[in-house]
Amino acid sequence: MPFTTALNTPYTTEVVSRDFIPAINEATPQILWVGCSDSIISETEVLDVQREQLFVHRNLGNILSNGDLSSESAVEWAVGLLQVKHIIVCGHYDCALIKSSEKDSDDALHGWYKDMTRLHTRFLNSHTHTESEEAERRKFEEVYVLAEVEWLRRQPVVKKAMEERGLLLHGFVFDRKKAQAVRLVVGGK
Ligand SMILES: [Zn+2]
Repeated sequence: MPFTTALNTPYTTEVVSRDFIPAINEATPQILWVGCSDSIISETEVLDVQREQLFVHRNLGNILSNGDLSSESAVEWAVGLLQVKHIIVCGHYDCALIKSSEKDSDDALHGWYKDMTRLHTRFLNSHTHTESEEAERRKFEEVYVLAEVEWLRRQPVVKKAMEERGLLLHGFVFDRKKAQAVRLVVGGK
C-alpha cells in the first residue's frame, strides 16, 4: 500500500490564486494536471494559464498510485519528454468515488480504488470523530490528494526531475460550491 504516511503529514490549506503559476509566453506544456474524470473543473478556471501550457491526465478519482499503464505513461511523457515544471494533483470535494471508498466491496470496479478504500478505513480509525460526516469526508479528500502527491514524489522519474531541474509538485482540492481550489501546504511550501 503506497499511501499511509499522508495520514500523519501535518498540512494547512490555502486558496489558490489564479496567478499561482505565473503566466509565461511559452506555447509548450509547463504543467502536468492530474484530475478526476467527474470533477467538472476547467483547469484554466483554477489557474490563469493558456490551455497549451497544460498536459491533462484524468481518470476516476485522480489515482496515480495504482501504477496503471496509462497513468504511468502520462507521468513519464510529461516529466521525461515534455519536461514540465509543475505537477498538480487536483482532487475535489464531494467526489463520488471518495464517498464509495468508505465501504469495502468485492466488485470489479473496486479493484481500481481498493488502496483508496484501505486508506479511508485507516483514516476513519485513526482519530476520534468529533466532526460532521461531511467535514470528515472533506478532510479525507485532502489527505487522499496528499497521499497521491507523496506517492508521486517517490517515483524515480519524478524524483530525478525534482533534484536535477527543480520540478515542483502541488496538491489541490477543488470546491465546486465556491468555484475555487485550495492548495495543501506541507512544511510551509
Ligand atoms: Zn471525483
